Amino acid sequence: MRTLYVKFIVITTGMMLTSFIFAFLISNAYYHQKIKPFNDKKNTTVALKIATFANEHPDNNLGVYLENISEVGYQLYLVDSLGNEHYFGETFRDKSLPASTKVHVLNGEIFHGILHFPRETFVTGFFANELRNTIGVPLKHNGKEYALFIRPDIKFLFGELHVFLGWILLLAISLTILMVLINTRYLIKPISTLTKATKSLANGNYKVDLASKRDDEIGQLFQSFLQMARKLELMEDMRKEFISNISHDIQSPLSNIKGYTNLLAQDSISREEKTQYVSIINSEIRRLSSLTKQLLLLASLDRNENIMKKKCFNIGEQIKGLIRNYQWAISEKGLMLSYSIPDIVIMGDPSLLETVWDNLLSNAIKYNIPNGSIEIFIEERGNTVFVTFVDTGLGMSSKAVDRIFERFYRADTSRTRSIEGTGLGLSIVSSIVKLHNGAITVKSKEREGSTFIIELPVK
Ligand code: ADP
Repeated sequence: MRTLYVKFIVITTGMMLTSFIFAFLISNAYYHQKIKPFNDKKNTTVALKIATFANEHPDNNLGVYLENISEVGYQLYLVDSLGNEHYFGETFRDKSLPASTKVHVLNGEIFHGILHFPRETFVTGFFANELRNTIGVPLKHNGKEYALFIRPDIKFLFGELHVFLGWILLLAISLTILMVLINTRYLIKPISTLTKATKSLANGNYKVDLASKRDDEIGQLFQSFLQMARKLELMEDMRKEFISNISHDIQSPLSNIKGYTNLLAQDSISREEKTQYVSIINSEIRRLSSLTKQLLLLASLDRNENIMKKKCFNIGEQIKGLIRNYQWAISEKGLMLSYSIPDIVIMGDPSLLETVWDNLLSNAIKYNIPNGSIEIFIEERGNTVFVTFVDTGLGMSSKAVDRIFERFYRADTSRTRSIEGTGLGLSIVSSIVKLHNGAITVKSKEREGSTFIIELPVK
């Protein structure tokens, strides 16, 4: 945070200095282009008026007159043809002036020193207190010829303005720096708050405190961060629940197997008991095997690996084949099965879709009532195939319907408790349907039955 804060201040101050230098360079160029000729013209007029007045008033004392002029804000330099020099007013910082210039002015020419003052990058000619930076005019007084060089006494004329401008500049710079210091703190503060929240999140505390009423980009960032924290919390809860469910589902068949193998080891058990225990152990092994198979499938669906091996195949034929496999279980439970299954070819992964139909049909059998019924029909509408499984089984409450696609969720009613299952089947179904860009809808009513509709794109 410190570094960002310091960086921000250094960059802003750097920007201020750069702008100041550019502003100066631009104003200086403007002075040389526009103001300098105007200034030269203005001072030439003044110099000529002074010379004319001196010429027209031969009785006046020239020295006193020029002294008076200097007192109203001019620096003057007077030289005659013999080289006698007089300065009036504030002294020039640099008094050098080529002798030829003086001769030219004595010969009647006007010297435009202000206009031709050399252009320098960081020196504004306006302030250069040099004899070269003057206007030179010939002056005649009492029959004697002089050269008069004048320039405005900037210090005298603009002295207060100088101080005034100096103060404005100083105050502007100091106040800007102060405001940058305060503003930077204000800008950096949300970042440090966010850093704190990130650290707290990394330490496993999902209840991060990021209250903000801002609706700018920072406010949006806080909102997104909170959403992310909530999602992470949900995922962490799901992960914990998943692990606890898996542990339970693996542990319970294992302890059953252990218990029954111990019983089998006893010499005193009868042949019937032995057969019964072996059958229980087999059933528990089947449960474990189906659980691990489902977990492996879910893991690869989760990793979104390229497990889809799509091809064109006839889902009508596939579902009819599956019905044949379940015929025995259907008749054992005394269920009535009716179907309308035309041949429809779709593009999909046959093995994954077989898992979908298998789960839906086995659920319709498992959660059905004795002598209940199952209906299966397929129809193609537009580019979509609708596969519907209807059963007159136990049905589910609306709360259960909301949760059946969650991993390990099993509606826990007195009737379903005894039915074997892992609670993973429908979450696998939902993942596979999603992978095929399809959708699944469930309608169910307790003690009346359930309807599962799968929509799949044909291509
Ligand atoms: P499993 O059948 O292994 O328990 P599933 O994920 O297939 O797991 O189903 C989740 C839960 O949804 C089941 O435990 C059951 O409570 C409910 N369920 C699924 N299909 C039906 C159905 N056809 N009729 C009533 N309940 C069902």
